[in-house]
Amino acid sequence: MTQARFRRVRQRLGELDIDALLLSVGADLPWLTGYTAMPLERLTMLVLPADGDATLVVPRLEAPRVTPHPDLFGIRPWDETEDPVAIVAELVGRRRSLAISNRAWAAPLLALQASLPDAKWQPASVVTGALRAVKDVDEITALRDAAAAADRVATALVEGEIELVGRTEAAVSREISDRLIEQGNEHVNFAIVGSGPNAASPHHDASERVIGRGESVVCDFGGTMNGYCSDITRTVFTGEPPAEFRDLYTVLERAQAEAVGAVCPGIAAEDIDGVARRIITEGGYGANFVHRTGHGIGLEEHEDPFIVAGNCERVTAGNAFSIEPGIYIEGKWGARIEDIVVVTDYGADSLNTVDRSLYWAS
Ligand code: ZN
Ligand code: ZN
Repeated sequence: MTQARFRRVRQRLGELDIDALLLSVGADLPWLTGYTAMPLERLTMLVLPADGDATLVVPRLEAPRVTPHPDLFGIRPWDETEDPVAIVAELVGRRRSLAISNRAWAAPLLALQASLPDAKWQPASVVTGALRAVKDVDEITALRDAAAAADRVATALVEGEIELVGRTEAAVSREISDRLIEQGNEHVNFAIVGSGPNAASPHHDASERVIGRGESVVCDFGGTMNGYCSDITRTVFTGEPPAEFRDLYTVLERAQAEAVGAVCPGIAAEDIDGVARRIITEGGYGANFVHRTGHGIGLEEHEDPFIVAGNCERVTAGNAFSIEPGIYIEGKWGARIEDIVVVTDYGADSLNTVDRSLYWAS
C-alpha cells in the first residue's frame, strides 16, 4: 500500500513539476510512511525528491518509533547538537520547486527559507490532497467502523438515553466523549453541545449553561478509531417543538437529504453545496446557513474535498466527506444535521445511518 502511495506521489510531483516534497507534522507523513511525527519543536521531516531517494530526518530519540521501509525511504537520525534544518537543506540541495506540509511549523519553514533563498514554496496539499481524498478499501472500512461507533452514541442521544434537561452543556459533552471512548475510539476530537441561543453558534464550546426546556440542542461530535475520524451531528429539541422550529427543521432535513441524494461521481463539489443552499434559501433561511455544506474526512477531520461554492472540482468514487447543512437564528436557536458519505459508482453511501428526523427529549 505505502509503495503504491509513493509511486503516485512521485508521479504527481512530475506532473506538477515539483522538485521535492517535504513532510513534517500533519497527516500526509503517516498517510505516506505509516509514521506519525510527534508535534514537537524538534524537527521531523521526510525529504522526498522527485528524482532521488527519500530520507526521513528524525530526532535520534524518536528514531526507534519509525518502522523502517528501506525500499521506500532512508532514515537520518539527528543528534541534539546537530542542526536538522541544515541536514534538510543539504538533502534538498539545488532543487528549487518545493512543497511542504500544510501543517509544518513556521519556525523550521522560516529557517529553511533562509537557508534556501531561491526556493519556490507550495503547500503539500497540492500534491497529496487529491491523492488522499480517494480512499482505498481499507480506509473506507476504517471510516465505516468509526462512523458506526459514533452512530451508537448518536442513537443514545436521540433516543433520550443521554439526559439533556437540567444538565450543563459541558456535562453532556463529557458524557458523549466518554461514550465515544467506550465505543472503541482511541481519542475524542471534539464534542460540541450548543443549547438554546448557543445552538446558533456552529462551533460553540460546550459551556456551563444549563439546558432548559423548549430549546434546540445541537450535538456535533467525532473521534478517531484505527487512525480514521468520525463526525456526526444530530439536533434534539427539549420538549415539544413549536411550529416555527418544526418548519426550520423540515427545510433542513430536506436540504440534507437532497444534497446526499445529489452525490454521484462527476458532480462538482460546489453543486452539492448548491443543492442544500437552494433548498434552504427557498425555505427562507438562506442568510442563516453560514458555512459550507461539508468537508472531506479521513486521517484528519477536515481535509479535501471541501463541499463549498467556488470548488468546481468534481467528486469521484472513493471520496469521503460530510454533508452538514445548518440553520442558525441568532439569539434564539439553531439546527444542523451531519452525516459522512462515501462516493460510490452508484451515488452516496451514507456511513452514518442514525434517524435524522426531529427528536423531542423529555
Ligand atoms: Zn461535525
Ligand atoms: Zn463536519
